[in-house]
Amino acid sequence: AVDIKSICVVGAGNMGHQIALSAALAGYKVTCTDINEEILQKAENFADTYLPERVAKGKLSEEDAKAARGRISFTSDLTEAAKNADLVIEAVIEKLDLKRKIFADLDKICPSHAILATNSSYIVSSKIADVTKRPEKVCNMHFFNPALVMKLVEVVKGPHVSDETVETVVGVCKKMGKIPVVLQKEIYGFLVNRIVSAIKNEALYIYDMGVATPEDIDTAVVHALGHPMGPFRLLDLTGIDLTYYISTERYQETGDPKYKPSPIIVEKFIKKEWGRKTGKGFYDY
Ligand code: NAD
Repeated sequence: AVDIKSICVVGAGNMGHQIALSAALAGYKVTCTDINEEILQKAENFADTYLPERVAKGKLSEEDAKAARGRISFTSDLTEAAKNADLVIEAVIEKLDLKRKIFADLDKICPSHAILATNSSYIVSSKIADVTKRPEKVCNMHFFNPALVMKLVEVVKGPHVSDETVETVVGVCKKMGKIPVVLQKEIYGFLVNRIVSAIKNEALYIYDMGVATPEDIDTAVVHALGHPMGPFRLLDLTGIDLTYYISTERYQETGDPKYKPSPIIVEKFIKKEWGRKTGKGFYDY
């Protein structure tokens, strides 16, 4: 396995800022980058409040908090952030063209040994790897939200991915205190999101049919199935915009009506009621 010391996280949004902090807490040197200065500042502020909070709660020593903070830096300059990275974790918005552009840039910027991973929720890395000269080092490394809390990481071995890359990424997951599962084949949406999508689609169908309210559907799923939160709370957490983009893109690609975004998702997308991030989704925040 490749010795990973330095990790670059591209995209400091919902997922990126927490992935970056998890890596810094695990002892990696981390650079976190975003094109949006405001989001980058928010990510830095988060690090500055989260770490002392953990210390106050007795979950982290003052020394470890200080060391982790010292290991993470923030910059809007992609070259600066990625030029010394052994591993890059890309966590920009779920748009294939953008990801391909970023991987092409990263391939030029990063050292030749560097592994380039994507945190994409659905896009398999073979759709991206061909823009680089190192397809064997391009893979999916899929974290869950919130990345500081959720332990599962899906590592996907596409046909172009080397065993060494999978082994290295699995090692990084373990060092971060995560629980990696390796998918031996690429499949759209991977493992967890396929199962979650099936539940989410059924919940939206039940809602669109006027059978029950989001609150009641969530209550049923929590109490009967033992899920920590229902599908509508989960939609608000992951972002209704993200669900809209994913289903629209998938629908355009396949023409399969099963992917057609539900009317309520379209409505909420247009109204900018995207969930927690906008203060309103299916619930108010
Ligand atoms: P987000 O919108 O919160 O963050 C994406 C960030 O990327 C934004 O801050 C944006 O400014 C930045 N960005 C856009 N273009 C960029 C560029 N050219 N260079 C650098 N930064 C750029 O999105 P998110 O929810 O964090 O999702 C990011 C990725 O993680 C997506 O691929 C998504 O599928 C995946 N993911 C999301 C979740 C979730 O629950 N939200 C869970 C697992 C995986």
